[in-house]
Amino acid sequence: MSATATGSDPYVPRHGDSNVEVLHYDLNLAYRVEGNRLDGDATLTCRVLEEADALHLDLHGLHPQKVFVDGRAHGFTHLRGRLTVKLPLSLGTELTVRVKYSGKPRPVSTRALGSAGWEELEDGVIVAAQPHGAPTWFPCNDRPDNKATYAITLSAPPGYTVAVSGELQGTSRKGNAVTWSYQQTVPMPTYLATVQIGRYRTLEQAGAPVPVRTIAPRELSVADLEGSFALQPAMLTFFTGLFGDYPFASYTAVITEDELEIPLESQGLSTFGSNFVDTAWESVRLIAHELSHQWFGNSVTLERWQDIWLHEGFACYCEWLWAEESGVSTVRAEVEKHHTLLADLPQDDLQLADPGPALMFDDRVYKRGALAVHALRLHLGDARFFEIIRGWLTEHRAGSVTTELFLEHVRREAGEETAALLSPWLFETALPPCPVPVRA
Ligand SMILES: [Zn+2]
Repeated sequence: MSATATGSDPYVPRHGDSNVEVLHYDLNLAYRVEGNRLDGDATLTCRVLEEADALHLDLHGLHPQKVFVDGRAHGFTHLRGRLTVKLPLSLGTELTVRVKYSGKPRPVSTRALGSAGWEELEDGVIVAAQPHGAPTWFPCNDRPDNKATYAITLSAPPGYTVAVSGELQGTSRKGNAVTWSYQQTVPMPTYLATVQIGRYRTLEQAGAPVPVRTIAPRELSVADLEGSFALQPAMLTFFTGLFGDYPFASYTAVITEDELEIPLESQGLSTFGSNFVDTAWESVRLIAHELSHQWFGNSVTLERWQDIWLHEGFACYCEWLWAEESGVSTVRAEVEKHHTLLADLPQDDLQLADPGPALMFDDRVYKRGALAVHALRLHLGDARFFEIIRGWLTEHRAGSVTTELFLEHVRREAGEETAALLSPWLFETALPPCPVPVRA
């Protein structure tokens, strides 16, 4: 079946099946760190959205051994990362698909999107799945607009900490393995699901409205986090004041022993390399950035990858808000600095509202997105701006959105003229003038 028949996102072709939605993933995993061996048993509760004669799941680099549909063994094919189960799908019906699989998980890599997914560390594992890496560790409907709940258990050798995007229900030891059980009750897209495994310890951090913790290599002390990860409760409290309740039950930052080029957000959890344990602004700003993604991206999530500015523009703006709050800089100084830097870069190849897969994570998307957010704020004034953004986050909490929905929201709350001011930022390539305060 062609990619269009299953409605793949054009930015991540050949992933996902729009004929079905997965409502719940029940993943039972066993992992051997030595030798990198994963054995999985996944049960997906699915609902049919369109009549079709087959169901497609994504599973990359791992081998499905058995498939059961509603408890009965069923035939399947597995070709180039697509697991196809032929059966009549009638509209509105629910079915469970169980896949038993195993193998040596490794990242998936494409020219346009780079590498993502399950990756071995020096002594452990990181999963950085955005945007196309989820199928490297579980069979899934890999579309950003299919949010589901999850129950995930993973057994690993004793001595390792297993962190998963969700709330820990408990651990149990059997033989030479410890099983970690997690639940994710807030609907989550596949790319925001993660597993982190390492010889870590957990540091609880007080002072925020929800539990905040840092899971870090054992040799790192609380004092080492002073001025960087220790700021997370204050950041979370600050963002809660601006944007409303933190959308999940807790927040965890995992610091790997290895150095990592860039940090990454997952649902309720962010991952950083040990090189970010540093009081330099370059590290602190990314700690604020990843945390703010819990509102912008993880709770309110793009329906299509082309709308990535709704995540990255706001997260970048949150860096500037924290810079001002913590006395490092002012939003105005950051706006002027980054507008000047952007103005020196080519603009012709990038449209913010649809940058194309190769430029999805281009720094200009982040900075131009943040400048557009600031233009909106200056036009509305602080009180109205934050009220409208809080309304947006509340209305779409745990949901899926598009740029058009955002513009509709702005139009409804603040009128056509306000929505129109965003057009040149979003749909034209030339850089609009630097947004400056209107003189009273
Ligand atoms: Zn980001």
